[in-house]
Amino acid sequence: MSQLVFLGAPGSGKGTQAKRLAKEKGHVHLSTGDLLREEVAKNTALGEKIDAILKKGDLVDDLTVMELLTANCHLDKSDYIFDGFPRNEAQARLLEERLLKDRPYRGVYFKVPLETLVGRLAQRRVCQKCGAIYNVKSMPPRNPGACDHCGSGHLFQRDDDREGVIANRFNVYTEMVGPILDRYRSRGILVELAADKGSEEVFGELLRRLFGD
Ligand code: AMP
Repeated sequence: MSQLVFLGAPGSGKGTQAKRLAKEKGHVHLSTGDLLREEVAKNTALGEKIDAILKKGDLVDDLTVMELLTANCHLDKSDYIFDGFPRNEAQARLLEERLLKDRPYRGVYFKVPLETLVGRLAQRRVCQKCGAIYNVKSMPPRNPGACDHCGSGHLFQRDDDREGVIANRFNVYTEMVGPILDRYRSRGILVELAADKGSEEVFGELLRRLFGD
């Protein structure tokens, strides 16, 4: 079994696919976006600093994210799906040098055109309590505004899923991810998926490409 690194612009569906794959294959799903939002929710001084950065759609500095990741990652106990990390070449190096070391891993890139992303993000809603992800058009909850999974969580739109911030997040992402893709491609550890399809179809393709299922 190898560790998995999921790459894809905001709205590419990588978070939804990561949650599902983790459940099916027993990985721990670790999203740096979730870790950062948890820190914001704690109302610490660090959380306040992170909050201002998240609201603009900019990136949090590499060492802060790396510290949060290291504190929450126990590779001797589980296999992981890294979601949202690395976001630049320096983070790709940090991940290898400080966390993965000699462990085998593969990158998975969820490719989606910008028009699809903007539509998906504007429709995305997240459960405040358990983090489940919905799309108000293609994957709505059974009861509007309430979570199907935990039953009690309120569904909200992330501040950074609003128009204006979306374009900035997309540009920041595409600029940064190129060198990571080159790095993984040249080592033959990159799986590239066309992710502008239905969630079921993408998941089927993911299983086939990663596990031959
Ligand atoms: P996400 O939930 O992955 O879309 O991340 C939400 C926001 O958290 C991003 O727009 C960044 O501001 C921040 N973030 C998440 N992961 C990272 C990372 N690896 N490095 C820097 N900032 C990050």
